[in-house]
Order: sequence, then C-alpha cells, then structure tokens
Amino acid sequence: MSYFDLSPDLTWEDLAVRAAVHKFAAEVMRPIAHDLDRMSPDEVVAEGSPLYDFYRQAYGLGYHKAFFPAELGGPGFSPRQKLIALEEMGWGSFGLSVALGVASFPFYFLLASGNETLIQRYTLPYLACADGSIRGCWGITEPNHGSDVIQFGEAFFSEPGRKADVRAFRDGEEWVIRGQKSAWVSGATVATHCLLHVQLDESKGLAGGGVCIVPLDLPGVKKGRPLDKLGQRDLNQGELFFDEVRIPADHMLVGPDQYEGTVQAILAVANTCMGAWATGLARAALDESLSWVKDRVQGGKPLIEHYSMKQRIFTLFRRVELSRQMARAAGGLNLDNPTPFVEYSLAAKVSCTELAFANAHDAVQIFGGSGLSREYPVEKLFRDARAAMIEDGNNEVLARKGGLVVGETYPRVSRGRPAAD
Ligand SMILES: Cc1cc2nc3c(=O)[nH]c(=O)nc-3n(C[C@H](O)[C@H](O)[C@H](O)COP(=O)(O)OP(=O)(O)OC[C@H]3O[C@@H](n4cnc5c(N)ncnc54)[C@H](O)[C@@H]3O)c2cc1C
Repeated sequence: MSYFDLSPDLTWEDLAVRAAVHKFAAEVMRPIAHDLDRMSPDEVVAEGSPLYDFYRQAYGLGYHKAFFPAELGGPGFSPRQKLIALEEMGWGSFGLSVALGVASFPFYFLLASGNETLIQRYTLPYLACADGSIRGCWGITEPNHGSDVIQFGEAFFSEPGRKADVRAFRDGEEWVIRGQKSAWVSGATVATHCLLHVQLDESKGLAGGGVCIVPLDLPGVKKGRPLDKLGQRDLNQGELFFDEVRIPADHMLVGPDQYEGTVQAILAVANTCMGAWATGLARAALDESLSWVKDRVQGGKPLIEHYSMKQRIFTLFRRVELSRQMARAAGGLNLDNPTPFVEYSLAAKVSCTELAFANAHDAVQIFGGSGLSREYPVEKLFRDARAAMIEDGNNEVLARKGGLVVGETYPRVSRGRPAAD
C-alpha cells in the first residue's frame, strides 16, 4: 500500500470512504479490467461479459450515485469525498472509472437542470437501479468535430452556416434529431440514455448548440460497433446514429443562449474527475514500481537498495502528491459550484494526466523488459494513461482554452452568465 495523503485534516468519514472504495477497486475493478483489456471490443460488450458484472456490483454498492445528494438516496459525499472515491477508482481502472462516471452523467445533468418532470422520469429510476441496467453516455464529439466542440472564442466557431454533424429541428411539440456522433462516445455501445449535444441554430454556427436527453430505445437510434483502441480497452466506446429521432420539446434542456456556459460547466466538472482518476493511475504506477524494486535483485541486491533507484521512486511519489493536491484543490473549488472557475479544472486535467503518463512511462522502465510484458500490470497503465491525454479534450486544446481564460482574451462563463470573480 502506498503513502496515502498529504492532507492532515482527513476525517474518519473521509478515511472510511477511501477504505471502502479501495476494497472495491482492488477486488472488483482490477480483475474485471484485466480480463476486459484482453478481450476484443465485441466480446467486451457481448452478453455474459464481465463488464455487466462490474456495473451490477458498482450499482449494487450504490457507487453509481456517488455524486448525488443524500436526500435522493446518494451518499451525500463532500467534494473531497467525491475526489477520494474517484482517485481510488482510478487506481482500480481508469477505463472502468470513466464507464461508471458517464453512466451517471445524463441523470446528474438532469438534476442540475432542475426539470422536475424529467428528474422523476429519468433520474429517480436511475438512482433506484441496483442491477446496473440503466446507463447513460455523453455525446458531444462528432466525426467532423473533435477538438472543435470546445473552441468557443475562435472565429470559426460562431461562423454563420457552419454545420455540426448532429442537428435538431423543431416540429410542433417535438424536436427531430438527425446525424451521427463520433466513435468515441464512452459507454455508448451499452448505454440506455444519452446526454446529446446538437446544433439548433445554424446562423450561430457551432455556437448555436443545444443539449438534450435522448432515450436510446427511440425509433431511429442506431449504435455503431464498439471501437478497438490502444488504451482503456475496458471502456467500451462507439458511434451513435440518429435518423429522424423525435424527442418531446421539454427534453431539450439547454438552448443556444446557455450553450457556451453549459459546456464550460461540464468541462469544469469532467476535468476535475479526470484529474482525480489520473491521480489514482499515477499511484497505481508507484505502487507497482515500489513492490517490483523491493523484490527484483540486480547488482547483488534488491533494486531499491541502489541509490539511483531511490531517486527514481521518489520522483514517482512526488508526482502522485502533486497530482492529488492539484485535483483536490480544483475539485474542491469547482465540484458543486454553480459558477466554476474552469481554468483550474483544465489545469488539473492537463497536469494530472501528464503526471500519470510520466509515472506509467517510468514504471515500464523500472520493470525493464517485464514492463513490456502483458504478464505485469504496468503496460496497461501506460496504455491507459496515454489515452487520458486525449480523452475529454486533447491536452493541447484544453491548455489553449485555459490560456484564453487566464489571458483574459475570452470570458469565463457559466450557464450563460459571467462567473463571479
Ligand atoms: C478514451 C476517450 C474517451 C472519450 N470519451 C468521449 C465521450 O464520452 N464523449 C464524446 O463525445 N467524446 C469522447 N471522446 C472524444 C474526445 O473528446 C476527442 O477525441 C478529443 O476531443 C479530440 O478530438 P479528435 O480525436 O477528433 O482529435 P482532433 O480534434 O482531430 O485533434 C487532432 C490533433 O490536432 C490538434 N488540434 C485540434 N484542433 C486544433 C486547433 N484548432 N489548433 C491546433 N491544433 C489542433 C489536437 O491537439 C490533436 O493533437 C473520448 C476520447 C477518448 C480518447
């Protein structure tokens, strides 16, 4: 077990959350993630896959409602407890952590929207679901718009007539949705609901967007085959196709006026989660390395007894501590904050995923040839960490977006209004 924490003021409740989620990460997430990593994408989502056992066990323990308040049956975690739970899950498996995170996202978003009818219809059944059968996903990126989807403030983004791949048109009391989301929608292949970004007003270009909730059993919805990829293979991903899909008018939760602020608010939450999961992955790389160097004998003694190796291990250790402090500070500021400071979440995502990748990379080197072998866990950590630097926005593009806010050439906004300074 690694060192746990630089924060001296953790409560007994914080420590209990950590212990419970760590047990789940070690006993459920690690073995299932290991098996899924070795399966083909089709096998991962096929009936009888251990993926469904993961959902069942996670929901059974109530971890699908980790972000929900106690009055709705959630655990009522403080922001710090949420981050502790996320870090432990990231230690267990980054990919499965994301799978569970996106599963809750549409229902969490509905709660924030305050639409009582839709909360009753969708969020409450999700919270009551103990078998893992109700699962959400988040469809924002498109075949022709990857990084583009967060490029507010760039001239092309609000160019009149610039088309998104998924558009919605009003028809009486309904919206009609047409188009295709990218193959990167996490959890899409097994999802029952999608929080979907659509273009509503072409005269505003990509800025004329909207966000809606779409049950994926509606006529006209099709799913693509699960994507094959390098890392986070335990996270299933796939395209979503919408052929004249009709949703009631009230399912459009956000229109163009609030679109930009909404995307920033989503980034502020999603990117702090990424930071905490990445901290867990960085810590897993430290843990694996530490036990390896205590055991492996070269030069007549265990590797850890060599001076240079102590330095290398310390580098892994300090990266974990840096990552945790960054993720926790940004999350403490922005989780549960209606006017978040998005630049801190962006800083956490970019920094923590870079630190996790550095740790996973060094862990492979510390293991030597065994680090390349699939017999040991560090090569998976390395592949998973690599994916995280693209996930939820390429790090360069997120950094550029953060730079616009920090450089004050673009305002920080939240749900359509300026955030408090
Ligand atoms: C593991 C994983 C999970 C994901 N989960 C989801 C999900 O749940 N839902 C969803 O909708 N999407 C998801 N995505 C998609 C993800 O958000 C996109 O992959 C990401 O935004 C990058 O888009 P892209 O892959 O199209 O790359 P591109 O945007 O094509 O970028 C390619 C390269 O060009 C650079 N670049 C891009 N634009 C510019 C520019 N304007 N100026 C200079 N350089 C630029 C980038 O930095 C990058 O290096 C996921 C991706 C991954 C890897």
